[in-house]
Amino acid sequence: MSSTEKDWFESIGYEIEVIEAAPCRAFHEKGQKYQINNYTTPNGLCMEAFHSMYPLLFSGKIEGDFTKLGSDDYNTRIFNCPSRVVKFKIKRFYQCNTCGYRVDKEELHQAKKEYNDFVLDVNVCSTCFSNLK
Ligand SMILES: [Zn+2]
Repeated sequence: MSSTEKDWFESIGYEIEVIEAAPCRAFHEKGQKYQINNYTTPNGLCMEAFHSMYPLLFSGKIEGDFTKLGSDDYNTRIFNCPSRVVKFKIKRFYQCNTCGYRVDKEELHQAKKEYNDFVLDVNVCSTCFSNLK
């Protein structure tokens, strides 16, 4: 299998929901939802908002605790866009690197996945863990 095949999900992803919105150039409306479960940006999300929330998303990817950033929840953070007209709720989730199945963080197993010319350390669900052994 080559690394260019679409067989990869980031072990940490995000659900981003617009919880408040006033008229803006990205036409955001309350209730819009975006998902990040790989290494691309979600279609339709304001580029300025994404650019400014990226440090938060990155801190989440390295297991940052959102309660240390003023949130009540370890995995959730409220985020205001730079123009302060749109408010997003950003919720981190965990998923299997191989199949994308969502699990609790504690349910991910560390394993190795072999490709033609390299081996990756992966975090996988119980089913994929069994298949990789
Ligand atoms: Zn899996």
